Amino acid sequence: MKKIYCDISATTPVNDKVIDFMTSIHQTTFGNPSSIHKYGQESHIVIEKARIEIATALNCHQEEIIFTGSGTEANNIALEGFIKPGDHIISTTYEHPSVMNVIKNLEQKGAKLTLIKPNKDGKINPKEIEDAIVKKTRLISVMYANNELGSINDIKTISEITQKREIVLHVDAVQYVGKLPLNLSELKIDLMSLSAHKFYGPKGIGALFIRKGINLNTILNGGGQELNLRPGTENIAGIGGMGLAISIAYKNIEKNILYVKKLEKLFIKELDRYKINYILHITDHLPGVIAIGFPGVDGQSLLISLDLKGVAVSFGSACSSGTAKASQILLDAGISEDLAKSTLRISFGKIHSESDVKYVAKQLSTTLERLQK
Ligand code: PLP
Repeated sequence: MKKIYCDISATTPVNDKVIDFMTSIHQTTFGNPSSIHKYGQESHIVIEKARIEIATALNCHQEEIIFTGSGTEANNIALEGFIKPGDHIISTTYEHPSVMNVIKNLEQKGAKLTLIKPNKDGKINPKEIEDAIVKKTRLISVMYANNELGSINDIKTISEITQKREIVLHVDAVQYVGKLPLNLSELKIDLMSLSAHKFYGPKGIGALFIRKGINLNTILNGGGQELNLRPGTENIAGIGGMGLAISIAYKNIEKNILYVKKLEKLFIKELDRYKINYILHITDHLPGVIAIGFPGVDGQSLLISLDLKGVAVSFGSACSSGTAKASQILLDAGISEDLAKSTLRISFGKIHSESDVKYVAKQLSTTLERLQK
């Protein structure tokens, strides 16, 4: 049976060149980067090279990048390291749990929290952010692109607001980095989280951009690595792999965007050819990330039936006790409960071919026909 993985937003397979590079690091470069001898220095060089690669891809200074154990950890280090009791935080209702649960904890410890809902287009209105600012607002945290909808926020306008008001801006860019260009010299983002496994790098490695002049308190105690913000002996192969993966992603970014958009168009054309009844929720979205409703069809049953045919897609919200609940993110974006329950996230990337896309559309068509009967 043909197997097609269409869940690029959840994670990506690791690029072959990245696998080779990581294997060679595991085989040869095992010294502790903190050791003074040559073995240690060789590992240290791998880390600093990767730091330069990330800084080059994002147009920032290498000293502004620290490596973390994941995107989740980057979000925790940024938010918990900055907020004090009494501070006011503005964020959104549709942040990833690695932001949402941290700010909710901070609220319990005495911070004040205002959450803004997305509009029907899945975006946060910068004006609503501006209107929520009060004297004690110290940090605004808005994700660059949403993981369920694929919608992209206007971080440029939000960053102009935070700059004018001297408020720190944290951006969870885990879904965005590697899919679209990002220039940190042009955007006044102060803290930004990224994760390698979303751009064909390894899992369990992330990074946090910390703009010069922003001071974070340490939330992890240890041997002082990574500016003492993420102490612990470094994951050398993961870091090296992340550096190579981001270089590859940004070297070909324009070409990849065009290619993935072409696949997306073909997919929609195929859906129309099969006369499938669908609703596209978000028009302006990350390349390849399609939040799509199939009215009258149970999304979870559709996902399972497709999986049995080798096609892996995603359904908004994990089910508890066997009952699929409508995703709160979709509901907040103004999608009705019924439609939210029949919505899938199908995400294509550069690993797919035109025939893959046609196959997915065909399987969708036959599966929908069967389910509707
Ligand atoms: N933020 C967003 C928007 C995500 O989609 C994810 C992962 O899906 C994360 C953070 C967490 O990243 P990681 O899996 O590296 O912890």
